[in-house]
Amino acid sequence: MRRQKITFGEMREMGLRRVLVYCHCGHHVALEADRWPDEMRLSDLEPRFVCRGCGSRDADVRPDFETGKPPLSVRSTHKLPG
Ligand SMILES: [Zn+2]
Repeated sequence: MRRQKITFGEMREMGLRRVLVYCHCGHHVALEADRWPDEMRLSDLEPRFVCRGCGSRDADVRPDFETGKPPLSVRSTHKLPG
């Protein structure tokens, strides 16, 4: 049974704007999440996505935490002297 994931609305509340779609073949793609409605779940998108690499419909959709990070985490990489 497919695990139910968060909605795009919840994802946007976390400040995340992109999703990463992973396939078991290793193919993955980053997509802007703006096109999907707030009430839709990431898990609802999974059966709709067709992999360009192998044609599979069994993708894993996750929020893109890397590029969607709020500015707070970027600041910590720049250490001030003293
Ligand atoms: Zn694939």
